[in-house]
Amino acid sequence: MRTLFFASWAAACTLAAQTHYDLLLKGGHVIDPKNKISAVRDVGISGGKIAAVAATIDASQATKTVDVSGLYVTPGLVDIHTHLYTYTGNHGSMADDHAIVPDSFGPREGATTMVDAGSSGWRNFDDFKLRIIDRSRTRVLAFIDIVGHGHRGGKFEQDLNDMDGKVTGDFAAKYKGLIVGIKSAHFAGPEWKPYEQAVIAAKAANIPVMIDFGSRPISELFSRVLRPGDIYTHMYSGIRGEQAAEGGPSQAVLDGRKRGIIFDVGHGSGSFLWRVAVPLMKAGFIPDSISTDMHTASMNTAMKDLLNVMDKFLAMGMDLDSVILRSTWNPAREIQHEELGNLSVGSVADVAVLRVEKGKFGFADMYGGRMDATQKFVCELTVRAGRVISRRRQLGRILRRPPSTLGR
Ligand SMILES: [Zn+2]
Repeated sequence: MRTLFFASWAAACTLAAQTHYDLLLKGGHVIDPKNKISAVRDVGISGGKIAAVAATIDASQATKTVDVSGLYVTPGLVDIHTHLYTYTGNHGSMADDHAIVPDSFGPREGATTMVDAGSSGWRNFDDFKLRIIDRSRTRVLAFIDIVGHGHRGGKFEQDLNDMDGKVTGDFAAKYKGLIVGIKSAHFAGPEWKPYEQAVIAAKAANIPVMIDFGSRPISELFSRVLRPGDIYTHMYSGIRGEQAAEGGPSQAVLDGRKRGIIFDVGHGSGSFLWRVAVPLMKAGFIPDSISTDMHTASMNTAMKDLLNVMDKFLAMGMDLDSVILRSTWNPAREIQHEELGNLSVGSVADVAVLRVEKGKFGFADMYGGRMDATQKFVCELTVRAGRVISRRRQLGRILRRPPSTLGR
C-alpha cells in the first residue's frame, strides 16, 4: 500500500514537472500594445497568470489547448465607464434599474474589468461592494461619486450639501485600488462646487476624476479645474463645446489635451453622434480610451456593448491595433492599474479572444444616424485569471488532454 502511494506520488510529481500550462491559446494573432506585440503567437497560462507568449508552445505541455488560429488574442478588455450598482430602491436611476449586472454582460463582450462610473458614493459604496463587487467574477472597480449618495437620481445628484471633497477623498483612500477615481455627473446648476470638490477628493486619494459635464462650455473646466490625468468622458457628445464652428476640435479640447486631460468616449444613450465623432476623428481628435457608459437605456438602443463601440471606431478607419490599445492598455493606465490591460509574462491571465467578422453591417448613433461598415468584433472566448468565463460554441471543443498523456 505504502509502495503504491509513493509510486503514484512520484508519477504525479513527474507530470507536474512536465506540464507547464493549464491553458494554451494556440495560433492566434496576439495584439498586446503595452509590449508592442502584433503577431501570431501562442499564449501559455499557468496558475492564473500569463506564463509564456512565444512563437510556438508545444501543446503537449498544456492541460487544455484551444486552437485560436484566425482569431485575435488580446488582453481582457477594460471598460472604464459602466453602471453596475443595481436595485437600491431608487427607480429610474443609475443606482437602480438603469444599472446592469456585471457578469451578465462583461464576459460575453471580452471585458474582464468593468469600472462603475459613480453609481455609488461614500455613503453607499460599502453596500455596492458587498452586493456586487465582491460577488462578481468580472473584476469590478469603481469611481465613486462626489455626491455621497451616488447616482440615485435628481433629488440626490443636485444636492450641493452632499458633495464633500474631504469626506469623499478620505473614504476613497481607504479603498485605494478598488476605488480608482472620483466622478461628477448630471449636475445641472451653474455652481462649480461639484467639480472643485471632486478634485479635492481626488487629490486626497491620489486618483483621477472623471467628469460628465452638464451642458456648458468646457474651456474653464480644462484650464482651471482639472489636472493632467483627469478624465473627460462623453467626448463626442457635441453639446459642451467640443467642436469648433467649422467642425474640427475646439480650442478648448486642443488646449485640454495639451494640458494632459484624458478624453474618453462614454458612448451612453446620448453622447455619441456620427456628425460629431466623424469630423473630430478626421481632424485627429481621437479618444484616449473607448468606453460604453453601459446601462439599461444605452445598451438597448444604439449602443450594444463595448465591442459595438469598438466596431464604430473600426468603421471610422481606426486600425485594429489602435482600437485594442484604447480598450486595454490605455484605460488600465488611466485608472492606475498598470498590471491590467496587457499580456506581460507574470501578469494576471485576463484575456479576450476576438473574431473580426466580415460582412455588411450598419452602426447607429443615438439620434438616428447610421454608418455602414464591413467588419465587426465578435468575442469567442474570455479568460479571467486563467479561467474560461465565457465562450461561444463556434470555437469548437477545448481539447483537454487525459492526464496519462500529459508531457508526451
Ligand atoms: Zn455614466
